Amino acid sequence: MPWENLCEVNQTELRPQHTADMVFECLECGRTYHLDQFLYTCPHCKSLLRIIDKNFDLLKQTPGSQWQKVFNFRKMLNIEALKGIFLFYELILPCLPLEDIIYLGEGHTPVVRVNEELAESIGTEFFIKYDGLNPSASFKDRGMASAVSFINYSIKKRNITQLLGICASTGDTSAAAALYLSYLKKGVVRSVVLLPQGKVTPQQLSQPLGSGATVIEVPGVFDDCMKIVEQLTDKYEVFLLNSKNPVRITGQKSYSYEIAQQFDYQTNNLAVVLPIGNAGNITAVMEGFLDFYRLGIITELPQILGVQSRHANPVFRWYQEKEYHPVKVKPSVAQAAMIGDPVSFPKIQRLVSEHYQGKFAVVEVTEQEIMEQMIKSNQHGHIICTQGGEGVAGVKKALQQGILSRGQRVVVDSTAHQLKFLGFQQMYFENTFPKEYEVVPDPSLQNRPVSLPASAQEIAHYLGLKTRAKV
Ligand SMILES: *Cc1c(COP(=O)(O)O)cnc(C)c1O
Ligand SMILES: [Zn+2]
Repeated sequence: MPWENLCEVNQTELRPQHTADMVFECLECGRTYHLDQFLYTCPHCKSLLRIIDKNFDLLKQTPGSQWQKVFNFRKMLNIEALKGIFLFYELILPCLPLEDIIYLGEGHTPVVRVNEELAESIGTEFFIKYDGLNPSASFKDRGMASAVSFINYSIKKRNITQLLGICASTGDTSAAAALYLSYLKKGVVRSVVLLPQGKVTPQQLSQPLGSGATVIEVPGVFDDCMKIVEQLTDKYEVFLLNSKNPVRITGQKSYSYEIAQQFDYQTNNLAVVLPIGNAGNITAVMEGFLDFYRLGIITELPQILGVQSRHANPVFRWYQEKEYHPVKVKPSVAQAAMIGDPVSFPKIQRLVSEHYQGKFAVVEVTEQEIMEQMIKSNQHGHIICTQGGEGVAGVKKALQQGILSRGQRVVVDSTAHQLKFLGFQQMYFENTFPKEYEVVPDPSLQNRPVSLPASAQEIAHYLGLKTRAKV
């Protein structure tokens, strides 16, 4: 199958040439607004916005099978602007000139088949897509590549002389925002991040500092930071880099395009498993598959499985009780998803009722299960973060509940790199989790360094080595 795609593609189709008509569209009142301004919510009714291309139907003139070839061939081109998420240019931000696209190495992360023993312990074979292998070590880079390319374009087009990019963050948004903004012109662009004090990992705190951003720590949790940033964006001239801004979502759709491509566009019987925090990512992924479906690039939408910790579970509760209420979060090792009132929740609701009926589910897992699955996975050749562990634990739970079945092709999103969350691993190994986490380490998974004298004999003795037979 992969070989058949390697022929018959018209050179002109490889070159992006679609005439797009991009607008912000309000999710509730349907009003549209031109992209020549910075908008984060509908000026009329304050609802969430999405970015749509009014000329999307023109893309249907190219058959789905031809799009597959275009995207496959483009991977072989050495055109910088198309090397990352903009490989799927027509579906990301086709109003941008190629020379304004910022590419810092994001996207096209590997899909890895899980180790056999691990698969057995979970109950099914599955794959992990390592989005921790993006430049700032999380999937947030996908959305920053589109948002910051849009900023770059807007600065030139509108002669903007001062721009302050700002975000609230559970750690990874700020790392990604600071990295991408630092690539733009100093003196024109400043970057500011708001973090909940003590609720991001040391690695995540050092990332925006290292990129030169102004880092502001405030007491409280993510939801408190988000409220402040919303007030700032309402009142002052700042550019919002949270996923509430649809220019981020449009880049994050690339995750779905890549999965489709990595499975040769065979999405029947496919399930994609994602942690839910602010609900930006899961909605981007659902929208991405929808784009491909509408263009006939895939013929079936995959099943989408959201996973939440019992300590931050508003979407799971909505799924169970059919009623939405924000929750007060408790400490969670899946800290990047520790959000009690997800900003993009209305988008989940809309996408599920309009397109993913019967194809969407949410499961809940415990902190204990998250830690165990992260460590077990990493002890079997993987490099997943706590949110990835949450996904793996979610697969096990969904199998037990009959939501997933053994024959299915399952892809778990490991949203960040293992190394960002070493502190939780350390607490597990040293048995120093504060009580609120409700994690009791399993001694068979703990691992500690051993101190021995600098002596080959002592080390051999400790390891129980046998002496080599004389030949
Ligand atoms: C942001 C983030 C999440 C949650 O994604 P949302 O879009 O907020 O739902 C999960 N995992 C990691 C590592 C993240 O950085
Ligand atoms: Zn509106």
